Amino acid sequence: MFNKLLSYFTEDIAIDLGTATSLVYVRGKGIVINEPSVVAINQKTGQVLAIGEEAKKMVGRTPAHIQAIRPLVRGVVSDFEVTEQMLRYFINRAHQKKFIFGAWPRIIVGIPCGVTEVEKKAVEDAAKSAGAREVFLIEEPIAAAIGARMPIQEPKGNFLIDIGGGTTEIAVISLGGIVTSKSLPIAGDKLSEDIIQYVQQKYKLLIGERSAEEIKISIGAALPLREKKEAPLRGRNLISGLPEEIIITSEDVRRAMEKSLNQITEAVKATIEETPPELLSDVMTDGIHLTGGGALLKKLDSLLRQVTKMPVKIIEDPLTAVARGGGVVLENLDELREVLSQTQTGEIPK
Ligand code: ADP
Ligand code: MG
Repeated sequence: MFNKLLSYFTEDIAIDLGTATSLVYVRGKGIVINEPSVVAINQKTGQVLAIGEEAKKMVGRTPAHIQAIRPLVRGVVSDFEVTEQMLRYFINRAHQKKFIFGAWPRIIVGIPCGVTEVEKKAVEDAAKSAGAREVFLIEEPIAAAIGARMPIQEPKGNFLIDIGGGTTEIAVISLGGIVTSKSLPIAGDKLSEDIIQYVQQKYKLLIGERSAEEIKISIGAALPLREKKEAPLRGRNLISGLPEEIIITSEDVRRAMEKSLNQITEAVKATIEETPPELLSDVMTDGIHLTGGGALLKKLDSLLRQVTKMPVKIIEDPLTAVARGGGVVLENLDELREVLSQTQTGEIPK
């Protein structure tokens, strides 16, 4: 009852704390924040200089004493204080109704599957000290599947692959829970790093993270393209030390990413092997669902179709699925409570 009254005064929120991007969904409003998970800090004073978009612009462009940090590595909290500050910033920005009666929001936070209790606790504590009245955790594949309107509460096999920045999560969901899952530290960021390595070896050119990501998105593909693409790429020649521009082809980029893509497809195959036959039969009908930014890599769906011999579809708006799914749970907390991960104490912070 008290909770009902409180929820009238507060705007509960769902947060997708991604390694690359964080999104915030406010109950009754939808997604209000969609920004890079980056915090810029002055190392001398410990002061936070910028968070989100503004901080991302500083990556690779800061003087020695300023550091642009991505506090979530592999989707788990690697830097507790910075994560807390980022959460606090997001919560304050999202939470417009100003804390009447100390009514802090209830918060749902997405976590990768297979995280340890200690890692769960770190997310929970960071959200609490950032101002959450109550914290609920939800496994990201479940949130993404709900966001994609997959029938996860039915006794049916739902197969989902979420390729984010830091991790690829592969999950089979039935009756609201995860039946089998795998999480591997190979996803979008690794593909960009592969491009950096490849260009360094083949062209003796040193390029930055941002250029590598841009190339991956513009001409990268998981299978050879019928129409080959090329793009200019700027960096510093490692031998002369001078700036240089080369032309890189889609074939170069595909070769650079090949090994990592292989590791992803192997993990998908391994998950299929571990899936109970009845559920697999459902997947053969409904297909494998792809989400996360990495799902947008050209031809990745075709590659997975080839390897698994199953239908593969990219869900609509894959970058916002987790936040939208978290939002659906917020709006229907009573019916969907069972899909939440445990660890909720519900204390009211000071
Ligand atoms: P996270 O949930 O970890 O924050 P996202 O789901 O936001 O990650 O995905 C971010 C990753 O997706 C980044 O590595 C980014 O480079 C990659 N990405 C985004 N758009 C595309 C695209 N069109 N093609 C290939 N990769 C993409
Ligand atoms: Mg994600």
